[in-house]
Amino acid sequence: MRYFAGASALNFSPSLLLQCSIRRRKLEAIGRRLVMTSVNSQSRSRESGGCDDGIITVEEWRRWGPVSPFPSAVKQIVDDLKVLECKLDAQIEFGGNGGKLQGTFGDYEDKKHRATYEALDDPEKKFRFFAARQIACRLLGSRGYLCQKCWLAMEDCMCSNVKPCGLWKRIRFWLYMHPRDFLRQNNTGKLLWQIFGPQSATLCIFGIAEDEEIMWNEFERAGKSQVCCLYPNQNSELTLSVENAFANSTSKNPGSSMSDEDKTLHFILLDGTWNNSAAMLKRLKDHAKSVWGDEDLPCISLATGASAMHKLRPQPSWDRTCTAAAAIGLLSELSLLPQFSSYGLDKQADAIDEALVILLDSLTGRRLRMGRSITRKVRNTISIR
Ligand SMILES: [Zn+2]
Repeated sequence: MRYFAGASALNFSPSLLLQCSIRRRKLEAIGRRLVMTSVNSQSRSRESGGCDDGIITVEEWRRWGPVSPFPSAVKQIVDDLKVLECKLDAQIEFGGNGGKLQGTFGDYEDKKHRATYEALDDPEKKFRFFAARQIACRLLGSRGYLCQKCWLAMEDCMCSNVKPCGLWKRIRFWLYMHPRDFLRQNNTGKLLWQIFGPQSATLCIFGIAEDEEIMWNEFERAGKSQVCCLYPNQNSELTLSVENAFANSTSKNPGSSMSDEDKTLHFILLDGTWNNSAAMLKRLKDHAKSVWGDEDLPCISLATGASAMHKLRPQPSWDRTCTAAAAIGLLSELSLLPQFSSYGLDKQADAIDEALVILLDSLTGRRLRMGRSITRKVRNTISIR
């Protein structure tokens, strides 16, 4: 996902340039250590543990990151999968990345869920079914395999290395995540709530009603002027720079009214692949229109230019930056504005940066291990989102 507007480096302030160059050096060093094996290429198979293991409690759900109640549509699909497992007397098997169903059970379930999908009469229902099924499969397929906090395989858990950090209380991030990115090891949006906590960086899964309701309730409470979507496209004429969005507006100056609880700034980060971002943005804009009338959802884009992450992204995606880098860019740009300069936003950006380095180290370590044990040719990319 490209979050940066590609402005000339000549426009940067010296301090931002320095920060960027320090980050770039650190990340380049890691890039050199990467070996050409794929983080996602290890095939594996795991079983869910039998007919009576299908209950997902709200506590289990929230340990993965969400703040919502366990979504009813996801629960329905988990229940259906378990009923099917008992009926077929064939255990649910997952393999590959992200809980893809396999084997006899997988073949049968594939036909069944396609029929259910086709029978749904409206696109919104189809979309919600798709999202819920993705989440259900990923939850069951990741049980006992991924660490619930960092979404890495247990043996790669990076949790003990991540330093928590307080995000300035007037900022709240919303990780608007595509269902296909939920529980992905190479997702970087998850780092934000690992570092700042789920009340400062909140997961909202695209198409999951309970999550979207919580997010929009907060936005309605805060008001349109306090909500911004970070726009992932440099070509848009509809976006404002961070400076233009915040520099000249007293109403958007939360520093001037510290006692007002409603002055929290809500930033939506689209957390999915480049190809999915248009649909995600459209859903946000449609909802914004239904809440606030004809006016569009305010969008901003970053001017941070060639991101530090570029060096790590091999072609063809080298120019797309990950979600965590977008948050770093946003906090860095905000910290340069006078009204935001005293809240330690640059330190908070550094905290994300450090966690990103730790994540890349973990992913790299995995690739190194896999490189020793896998002799067949594997995809020669590492990708982070
Ligand atoms: Zn962990």
